[in-house]
Amino acid sequence: MSKATTGPEIERLVQLLARLPGLGPRSARKAALALIKRRSDLLEPLAAAMAVAAEKIVICAACANVDTISPCTICQDPKRDPTLIVVVEEVGDLWALERAGVVSARSHVLGGHLSPLDGIGPEKLNLDGLIARARPPVQEVLLALSATVEGQSTAHYLRDQLGAAAVTVSQLARGIPVG
Ligand code: ZN
Repeated sequence: MSKATTGPEIERLVQLLARLPGLGPRSARKAALALIKRRSDLLEPLAAAMAVAAEKIVICAACANVDTISPCTICQDPKRDPTLIVVVEEVGDLWALERAGVVSARSHVLGGHLSPLDGIGPEKLNLDGLIARARPPVQEVLLALSATVEGQSTAHYLRDQLGAAAVTVSQLARGIPVG
């Protein structure tokens, strides 16, 4: 066993940071040090913000977006086009679309894509909610799924499922920006 250089509290901070995407043990240690050096203007506000977020985060009952209210901010926004629903795979895709300002519509988060090899069938995705929403005032469902094979087969499946609904199903060109 290697010698401990810090108390268990800081070690735990480093270990938790290292679980974040894009942070290995080395950069987690750097991040922990940066937080510790900036205790009052970074570490403490961040800890407080995380505690509040952890307590308040909910999944929107209508669209499965992540927010602190349900229905979420997007679902409650009266300025958005109520006739258009944009369908994305993950919350991160929705946030990317929102940042890009591509559309001002209602949203729907599937929670992934169909992937038979990984055992992800239609029952694992938020599909029933979408089908239930695909009726007036909604007129169009815009699929903003990834350009991968799985994303596109999910799009085909959705087109089939929405075939009986009185909505136009369209597709955002060339997938969506990721990040
Ligand atoms: Zn919502």
